[in-house]
Amino acid sequence: ALGQLEIDYDELAAAALRCYCTKVPRNVNMAKLRNGYLFPEISIRELQHLEKYPHAKLISLGIGDTTEPIPENIALSMANYARDLSTAEGYSGYGAEQGNKALRKAIADTFYNHVPVKETEVFVSDGAQCDITRFMLLLGSNATIAVQDPSFPAYIDSSVIIGQAGDFEDEVGKYYDIEYMKCRPENNFFPDLTSTSKTDIIFFCSPHNPTGHAATRNQLEHLVEFARDNGSIIVFDSAYAAYITDDSPRSIFEIPGAREVAIEISSFSKFAGFTGVRLGWTVVPEELLFSNGYPVINDFNRIMCTCFNGASNIAQVGGLASLSPEGFQAVRSLVGYYKENAKILLETFNSLGVQVYGGRNAPYVWAQFPGRKSWDIFTEILEKTHITTVPGSGFGPGGEEYLRISAFGHRESILEASKRLENLFS
Ligand code: PLP
Repeated sequence: ALGQLEIDYDELAAAALRCYCTKVPRNVNMAKLRNGYLFPEISIRELQHLEKYPHAKLISLGIGDTTEPIPENIALSMANYARDLSTAEGYSGYGAEQGNKALRKAIADTFYNHVPVKETEVFVSDGAQCDITRFMLLLGSNATIAVQDPSFPAYIDSSVIIGQAGDFEDEVGKYYDIEYMKCRPENNFFPDLTSTSKTDIIFFCSPHNPTGHAATRNQLEHLVEFARDNGSIIVFDSAYAAYITDDSPRSIFEIPGAREVAIEISSFSKFAGFTGVRLGWTVVPEELLFSNGYPVINDFNRIMCTCFNGASNIAQVGGLASLSPEGFQAVRSLVGYYKENAKILLETFNSLGVQVYGGRNAPYVWAQFPGRKSWDIFTEILEKTHITTVPGSGFGPGGEEYLRISAFGHRESILEASKRLENLFS
């Protein structure tokens, strides 16, 4: 995402009008997309701020990228493997498109030991975001989707790109033909399913980015029941499951009946600091069938073979190391570090009388500023404290009045940010 920063797309488009053009029409779906993707947009604001205040010590609590080093034994496993690739004995080329067998088993044993998931149902990938898009490709342009509002932007944007959505409606801040399921404190961050239209696909993220809410067992039981009644497929995003502290379900497959109506997408990014290494997985149960009885897993396998070709062998070795007893303990303490950051931020906002949510089961704090526009609060905090956050409205109209504050950061930065916020709000 950060590679896009050096390019001014408006300037590029204007320059193109003055230049030779090919006869290739632009994909109309790409043209429907609104603004830049949210996180590059935040990075641009950070750069502009630094141009304006070159000496400011900017603290980024925005994008939500991990900051702490990968535990040494995990990094070393990748380094050793990479070095061995230069030897005749250690070299390996293409691997299985579905992922290394040992890693698939380790994922099933580690994350699904309490639920019936087979290792053959686990597909290793280069990250959750890529799997979301590949699943859209599998579904095609006729599928309809529902998303939580607010929601992680990749679900909506990839749906628009594949051609499932209508135009963006400025008055309401939504795309036509996408069902937005409002998740706010008033409904305990769970949509009112009685007024939710039936769609083919329901994207559901828990713990939820951006609000930090982990859905309760009861909420997920309702969701599964709703999907079963409507014949929908739930795409359950559990990228932050490792941050759950209470007894909220860590997997949708903990809910009876989910295997016939859900897939689960997850990631090593926030669990093991692999945002740059790139590794994730998707579980597709054998029982999940299309309306004609054809298994979804067969089509997912076809997509992975055709459009992917398998995760990096180096990244997979790192993934396996992070699931070894020693590696697992090390990444658990990394997660614990970010959770402590979240606690510090929560306590800061609480002491200032700002209403905050999340932060206990997720590395995000969701702060409410009643009656304010979220881009205005974002700008005010950036100007006065040199801290970047994410305006809630960037996650959909349901995020207006809120800011998402990320707990990914060095402890000194989190403590310094708390001090600056105290000065601003007290
Ligand atoms: N899903 C959610 C909810 C996320 O917040 C993110 C990244 O922030 C992703 C998926 C992307 O994960 P990955 O890095 O595995 O592509």
